[in-house]
Amino acid sequence: MNRNNSIGCTVCECKFHDNNKNFCTLERINVVKHTIAADTVECTDCGSFQKK
Ligand code: SF4
Repeated sequence: MNRNNSIGCTVCECKFHDNNKNFCTLERINVVKHTIAADTVECTDCGSFQKK
């Protein structure tokens, strides 16, 4: 899978992670919030993550 230079990512545990550089290999991802109202960076996550 080719890396997507528009999506930087450091989650190397994800099966879509480019193992050589810190990028995602998907064409698009879903960014989600896991609180009702997001007010810090910790409230958001990648919703496209899948464990290797
Ligand atoms: S799907 Fe999300 S967590 Fe996985 S490599 Fe792409 S951006 Fe990172």
